[in-house]
Amino acid sequence: MSSALAIHGGTPVRSTPLPHAYIGAGMYGEEEKRAVMEVLDRQSPFRYYGPDPAWKVTAFERGLAAMTGSAYALGVSSGTAALIVALKALGIGPGDKVILPANTFLASAGAVVAAGAVPVFADIDDSLNIDPDEIDRLADGETKAVMPVHILGNPCRMDRVMAAAQRHGLHVVEDAAQACGASYRGQAVGSIGDIGCFSLQMNKLITTGEGGAVVTDNPVWYERAVRYHDHGMFREREGFLGMQPESEPFLGQNYRMTEIAGAIADEQLKKLERMIAAMRIMKRRIKQEIAGIAGLRFRTICDDAGDAASAIMLLLPGPAKAQLFREALQAENIACSYLYGGRPVYMLPQLFRQRTVDPGGFPFNRLADRVVYAEGMCPVAEALLPCNAVISLSPLFAERDAEDIVTAIRKVSNVLL
Ligand SMILES: *Cc1c(COP(=O)(O)O)cnc(C)c1O
Repeated sequence: MSSALAIHGGTPVRSTPLPHAYIGAGMYGEEEKRAVMEVLDRQSPFRYYGPDPAWKVTAFERGLAAMTGSAYALGVSSGTAALIVALKALGIGPGDKVILPANTFLASAGAVVAAGAVPVFADIDDSLNIDPDEIDRLADGETKAVMPVHILGNPCRMDRVMAAAQRHGLHVVEDAAQACGASYRGQAVGSIGDIGCFSLQMNKLITTGEGGAVVTDNPVWYERAVRYHDHGMFREREGFLGMQPESEPFLGQNYRMTEIAGAIADEQLKKLERMIAAMRIMKRRIKQEIAGIAGLRFRTICDDAGDAASAIMLLLPGPAKAQLFREALQAENIACSYLYGGRPVYMLPQLFRQRTVDPGGFPFNRLADRVVYAEGMCPVAEALLPCNAVISLSPLFAERDAEDIVTAIRKVSNVLL
């Protein structure tokens, strides 16, 4: 192998790209096919009734509740739906603020806005997740919740998040869209806060194309979540609270999960532990092999044993080096991506300019003291994020693929850093 970088005309480390890293979709097999066919054969794609329901969504919910150690789980139509349902279950709406990390996907903020509340942005620390100290700085009388986001499977420092939330009487809604199966100090993410939210979209750990779920231990929030995701209806269901004194009727939306999604989700969930175990071994090996390379830093993983290990996130010395590094790895046929274009979510124009579908700017116009987003608002995020380079892992990577990742990182670092 030539030591000239492929980007400079040398021979690439690999002649072909790595296998794709759509983790859950890559694991599709006979199990998912059989489960979907069962739903079709029974002509019963709806979760609550049909000629012969297979109760696939219910099975997925039981599995997820067991895996996360939660009393209740509810399948929904997307991760965004999960966040909206969670916020509404907790009674969060117009006039309220929710603290979000600067490093997240647009959907975390979109869900807060859809709930009628206003996102307030907390800076991140070297884990690239929320800096728990920011909660103390930001919480005020209008703040009702904090939404820690476990970015790329790295669990947030939940002990400190929970302590800060408790100090200020805030609800905790975990956005675990990217971390299904991860844990923090032995407790599954999603089950640590008041309500946890998962996504089953294509880019997440397990997938149904579109889908999501919420988990909670609280029967009242669960019951509110069930009704909000189902038009505000009261249905007769096993274990369902029904019309109780605390169950004031309210209108809801339709965020229900289909039986076809439930069938796939149920099978994917059964594979998750093995998938994560394989990625953890691979990630540990790769990190060991590239540790100590001058100029290469890993983001801090808050709990190594609980990391979902779906990605290796590197921090390079400065945005220009980071860009060169990513391009050079790509040229070696090692897929390397740039998380969120290196920008805090509030820098996206929709959010930065507080544009909603409402011409008056609801819900941003609801607060007496208008929340303003500005450049420089979260300096750590603004400094660290442009330095990121992400290598996605997959349980389908062979040992040879992991070796190629190491070889390419060494080769590229040697020349560029
Ligand atoms: C993907 C994602 C969501 C939204 O999930 P969808 O299923 O795509 O609606 C929310 N938050 C984070 C952090 C995500 O990565």
